[in-house]
Order: sequence, then structure tokens, then C-alpha cells
Amino acid sequence: MTTTIMVAGGAGYIGSHMVQTLLAENYDVVIVDNLSTGHRQAVNPQARFYEGDTRDRQFLEKVFSQEKITAVIHMDAFSIVPESVQEPLKYFDNNVIGMVTLLEAMQKHDVHYIIFSSTAATFGNPTKIPVGDTDPQDPINPYGESKLIMEYMMRWVDQAYGIKFVALRYFNAAGALADGSIGEDHRPETHLIPIILRTAVGEQAELKIYGDDYQTPDGTNIRDYVHVMDLTQAHLLAVQYLQAGQASTCFNLGSSTGFSVKEILQAARKITGQPIPAQVAPRRGGDPDILIADNTRAKKILGWKPRYDNVEDIIQTAWNWKQKHPQGYQD
Ligand code: NAD
Ligand code: UDP
Repeated sequence: MTTTIMVAGGAGYIGSHMVQTLLAENYDVVIVDNLSTGHRQAVNPQARFYEGDTRDRQFLEKVFSQEKITAVIHMDAFSIVPESVQEPLKYFDNNVIGMVTLLEAMQKHDVHYIIFSSTAATFGNPTKIPVGDTDPQDPINPYGESKLIMEYMMRWVDQAYGIKFVALRYFNAAGALADGSIGEDHRPETHLIPIILRTAVGEQAELKIYGDDYQTPDGTNIRDYVHVMDLTQAHLLAVQYLQAGQASTCFNLGSSTGFSVKEILQAARKITGQPIPAQVAPRRGGDPDILIADNTRAKKILGWKPRYDNVEDIIQTAWNWKQKHPQGYQD
């Protein structure tokens, strides 16, 4: 029997890679996306695409009536931290209300499984490194708060209606499909690796290193970069985990290794062969010194085996995408 998976946010960075993985595994895929931050060009033509907003009940009713969905992969959210601080209501509206209407539609149409893109931002300044799945969550910005609320919502909805969930808290998603056909194109771009590669091709004059006085060996922030295709594999395993009748749960997804901003810059210089000018700038605000995931549980329970364990390979795939699409997507 065909399993139909809805990818909400399937025109976005991680969503488009998710769709690619599902299609490669012969799943039937439905994409729901309002293209607010995603790209029409990133929509895989092998999937059925419904353009619309997950907050729109009539729109969702149409999609869930036309399609027999087995599981929803929820990747449709706003995720720019500084913007969330400036405009918190925009974030609670899109992220939290979007989750309410989606769960309502799932309940009405008897869809029992949801896999949710959560984030390391739900932890705020973690109490220990590496960050474990059950460590205290205490977000320090509205984006992280909105995602934590969504995790809590799913718990209550499971209790009341039996909709099972897996929340996957990504650390720093990075890289692209190795052939460079799809990749990361956020506008504005705030993430380190695409900004470094933009600097490599001269689109911006220099990288600003946001602070070199953190409590780390070289003074710059340490992050856990995890390849986007490894993230999509974890989602696939999470769907199978729920289909096997397992209980709702949350996992931290990272590589379990950390790299500083300066180390990432050095690796990118090596891969691109470009000098990539950089200058230390003031702290951006709200950046914890170090974030590294403890991925032991995801490996043990889901059987997750991240294939990219080398940050240079991750950057290489992002570089493949950049070289093939210097201006990003065209629409
Ligand atoms: P993205 O902006 O590229 O993708 C989000 C997609 O959702 C876009 O295509 C957008 O058009 C769509 N969307 C947003 N609101 C919608 C709505 N109301 N209705 C329909 N479509 C809507 O972002 P991304 O980097 O691919 O992130 C995907 C998910 O992963 C997000 O939920 C984000 O919070 C989470 N996440 C990302 C990272 C990261 O490093 N990129 C880290 C942790 C968690
Ligand atoms: N960073 C930087 N310059 C940039 C963008 C990011 O120094 O132009 C740093 C940022 O301060 C953080 C790290 O790179 O320490 C990763 O930032 P990113 O926004 O990619 O991910 P985050 O960890 O904030 O989710």
C-alpha cells in the first residue's frame, strides 16, 4: 500500500530535501507551502503541490479531503531569531496558529502521525554540553518559545486524540543535496555557511565574525553542524518508528561535534580556494557560547546513522549548490 506523506513547508530549504528523500524511497508526497519563505523552483515536480497557508482552515480541508495522508512532516514555520525578537506576534501567529489548524485537520481526517521540526533554540542557554534530549528547555527568544509551545501542544493533543508525534530538535542544519540541484536560499540569509560562501564569490566584501570573546578556545561560538540529508533520514526513521506503534517522543539531532566560527571559515577557505576576508564584529546578541547535541538517543532508538561526520564534506555540498546557483533560486 502506498504511504502518502504531507510535507508542510516542502518548498523550503529543509523541506525540499525532505521531499527528495521521500521520493527516493518511493513514498507518495504531497507538498503544502504558501511560498512565504520558500521557492516555487524548489518544489519537486514529482510531488503534488498545494499552494496555500496552513493557518487557512478551508485550504487545509480541501487538501485533507483530496488526499489520504498517513503522516504529516511539519517544516512550515518562520525561523529567523532576530526577526522573532522584533516581531514576536508574527512568529506566534504563523508558527503556533499554523500548528493549531494543522492538528485540527489531522484530527478531523484521522491522520495519526506528525513529525515536527523543532530546534536547539528551545533550550536557550543549555545547562550542560552536549545537550541531552531531556535537558531543561528555557528559550531565550520568541522563535524558540513558539517551537517549545508547539512541542507542548502536540503532547496534549496526543493525550486527548492519540495523534502521535516525534519532535526532532535540529542543531545547525547545513549543506545541500550533493549534486547541488537544491540548496539553502533564505532571504535574508542569516546562517553562517551560506554567508561565508557568499563572501567567497564576492557577493559581500567580508564575513563579520560576531564576537571573539566567548568562552571557547578561539573565542568564537561553537556550533554543531548537521547535514540536511542526514536530518531528512531521521525524519524517515521517525515516520517508521511511529508506524511501528511506538510512543511520542523528542530527539536532539546534531553530529555531536562542534566547530567554532573560525574553524568553519578555515574549512571554507580550503574548500573554495578563496581567501574569504573576515573581520571581528560586535556580538550579535542572544548567541550561547557553545551548542552541541547529544545524539545518542536518536542513534539508539531511531537507528539514525548520520553519514556526514566531516564538516568539510558538509561545506563542500553547500559549495556545490552555490556554484551551480550563484544567485539562488530564480523564483
Ligand atoms: P525555510 O524558511 O526555508 O522553510 C519553511 C517553509 O515553510 C517555506 O517554504 C515557507 O514558505 C513555508 N511556510 C512558512 N509558513 C507557512 C505557512 N503558514 N503555511 C504554509 N507554508 C508556510 O526554513 P528551513 O530552514 O527549511 O526550516 C524548516 C523548519 O526547520 C522550520 O520549522 C525551522 O524552524 C526548523 N529548523 C531549521 C533549522 C535550520 O538550521 N535551518 C534549525 C532548526 C530548526
Ligand atoms: N555568525 C557569524 N557571522 C555571520 C553569521 C553567523 O559570526 O554572518 C555566527 C553566529 O554568531 C553563530 C554561528 O555563526 O555563532 C552560527 O550562526 P547561524 O546563524 O548560522 O546559526 P545559529 O547557531 O544562530 O542557529
